[in-house]
Amino acid sequence: MVFVDSHCHLDFSGFGTFLESRLAGRTLEYYDIDLLINRASQVNVKYMLNVGTHLSDVERYTKISEKFSNIFRSVGIHPEYAREHCEKFSFDKMREIFRKYCCLNKTVAIGEIGLDYHVNNDVDQQKDIFSFQLELAEEFNLPVIIHSRDAWMDTMEILENHPNVTGVIHCFSGERDFAERVLNTSFYFGIGGTLTFKKNTVFQETVRDILPLDTILVETDCPFLAPIPFRGKLNEPAFVVNVAEKISELKDISVTQIADQTSKNFFKLFKKAKF
Ligand SMILES: [Zn+2]
Repeated sequence: MVFVDSHCHLDFSGFGTFLESRLAGRTLEYYDIDLLINRASQVNVKYMLNVGTHLSDVERYTKISEKFSNIFRSVGIHPEYAREHCEKFSFDKMREIFRKYCCLNKTVAIGEIGLDYHVNNDVDQQKDIFSFQLELAEEFNLPVIIHSRDAWMDTMEILENHPNVTGVIHCFSGERDFAERVLNTSFYFGIGGTLTFKKNTVFQETVRDILPLDTILVETDCPFLAPIPFRGKLNEPAFVVNVAEKISELKDISVTQIADQTSKNFFKLFKKAKF
């Protein structure tokens, strides 16, 4: 039985003051990567995909996946940083950085990319950066990791303009209409810790009734969004097991089967992930 955490952020130091301010008083050693991988391994979480959010960090997190054979990586610009990238880099410069890192063996995807209307109102810049990265995904024949918050209709409209691109809807939150639209594509659903939260009954019903197991990946999005019973703590790859257990309970399928199928889905989608 092997689990894959299909979405994590292990370059913890990069979160810097952002996380320090949110997690005041908690020790950063907690995110010692050797320790995290060890703990994950003990519960059969053997592979991880470390997801990029910003081009300034790419060199640092590239080193992580060069050091650990079981950690893959993606390169991408999170919608939250779209404006910053438009101001800081030319599109030529961004393309140059993507070309450099996308060619490397362990870069298995472009992401996380998409639209986030929750915090920002820089919609045009977000759409430009999103479409730009979908073109790169076509160029490199890489799957994409989609971040979509309060923006699923626009997200799907843009994705549908790139029918050759496949990937995963990361941190899927269970809207039925969204699920049905995604099921008409080749995309997978990234299911994380929020599935375990008691109030998320619609999400749980969607997973139980609508999503076939061969469309699901499990993820933590650590250090954020720890599942029950770790809610409120720093999340880590080992906790992806709790997400798989919740899916097992909802679908009445053994945890072993959930682990096997979601791992198979992972390696089918991220074809460059080899071990
Ligand atoms: Zn993420």
